[in-house]
Amino acid sequence: MSRILVIGGGAAGLLAAGTAAGRGHEVLLAERNDRPARKVMITGKGRCNLTNDVSDVKEFISNVPVNGRFLYSSVSSFGPPDIMRLMERCGVPLKVERGGRVFPQSDKAVDIVDALVRFDRTAGVRFFKGRAVGFECSDGKITQTVFEDGAKIAADAFILAVGGKSYPLTGSSGDGYPLAASLGHHIIEPRPALVPFVLDGSDFLGMQGLSLKNIAIHIKDTSGKTVYSDFGEMLFTHFGVSGPVILSASVALNDIGKRKYYLAVDLKPALSEEKLDARLVREFDANPAKTLSTVMSALLPRSMIPVVLRRAGVSGTEKCAETSRLLRSSLVRTMKSLDFTVTGTRDFNEAIITSGGVDVRQIDPKTMQSKLCDNLYFAGEIIDVAAYTGGFNLQIAFSTGFAAGNCV
Ligand SMILES: Cc1cc2nc3c(=O)[nH]c(=O)nc-3n(C[C@H](O)[C@H](O)[C@H](O)COP(=O)(O)OP(=O)(O)OC[C@H]3O[C@@H](n4cnc5c(N)ncnc54)[C@H](O)[C@@H]3O)c2cc1C
Repeated sequence: MSRILVIGGGAAGLLAAGTAAGRGHEVLLAERNDRPARKVMITGKGRCNLTNDVSDVKEFISNVPVNGRFLYSSVSSFGPPDIMRLMERCGVPLKVERGGRVFPQSDKAVDIVDALVRFDRTAGVRFFKGRAVGFECSDGKITQTVFEDGAKIAADAFILAVGGKSYPLTGSSGDGYPLAASLGHHIIEPRPALVPFVLDGSDFLGMQGLSLKNIAIHIKDTSGKTVYSDFGEMLFTHFGVSGPVILSASVALNDIGKRKYYLAVDLKPALSEEKLDARLVREFDANPAKTLSTVMSALLPRSMIPVVLRRAGVSGTEKCAETSRLLRSSLVRTMKSLDFTVTGTRDFNEAIITSGGVDVRQIDPKTMQSKLCDNLYFAGEIIDVAAYTGGFNLQIAFSTGFAAGNCV
């Protein structure tokens, strides 16, 4: 039996601690907050989308655009069916919603947190409050963890599961990066991910609050090459754009904010330019005496009409009967590609996850053991992996937490 110190009582730390204790180790869990898993409490808008009921590991990994392959082994060993079984065994019935998203039947994230804490306590994990600030080492191994209040805790092995930097008020404020770097680990620069975009200009301001369904987005680099496309929902805000397709794009493009990108919104993805033109002709023919801006309300949300007309070089006061073919084609082009310049993303306070972190090349993907320090293991968001929404990020915390707790 060894003495294990788990640092960080979030999703990954709780799973790692209970797993290690269940194997007979003496496990201590240090959490800087009074209560563990504050972030898990606010996941899924307080409902906790804890995993995704994907059909296999390959499908899981296709939802992890940053270093997905690193997770192959850990998700194979402890994947969605395993956390679902564990939760049901801990007395939390689950349900599967649209897109395979798994939630507790109660719709209460606190039920998941309580179950994880119960899992730990039943296995004999001892919790204490403390913020880890440093390590003491000897012969390339950690001997003790140093805490903010000066306390030092010795152990045979250490699991660092302090999360990333997003939503820092929950306790995950990036402490893990200097801790890992102090032992020689390379840290891929952390950046906000699953985060809204900030746009240049002011056109979006008149559309704030407008939510668009069934649109397509294409993100282009400065050479005009499309680097990302998606279909779904988005929303205009007071700073730019948000919503599912935007959040996903923020994970896939890892140099956003450093490089300039252009966002092109296709407002009518189901119609080719020709079909959209034919639709306009029908609309204009049926309403010859009406103005363009009046008739466009059959095709576009009201707050968007002035923007589209201006971009198309149209005043809107023209009568439908008077619209030229040239003018129509300008309207069609604008509706098929409403363009904006992306200047960056919102910050860590609004980012659902952190991309970047401990370089996966320095971690054994089967065990989560550091390749630089024998008795150090990593788990959860501190590692440089990042996934789309849908329960994948919590599952990554559980899978890597299990691997660390099972191999320590
Ligand atoms: C608003 C929001 C909603 C989300 N919704 C979902 C969702 O529905 N589904 C999903 O899959 N993912 C969701 N996520 C992402 C998910 O919450 C994280 O990916 C996951 O919590 C990461 O787990 P973790 O254990 O690595 O880190 P965390 O859960 O962040 O836990 C880290 C813990 O370490 C503690 N800690 C930090 N520094 C120290 C230190 N120096 N010493 C001791 N303790 C320390 C922290 O206080 C914290 O308790 C959401 C995130 C946010 C912000």
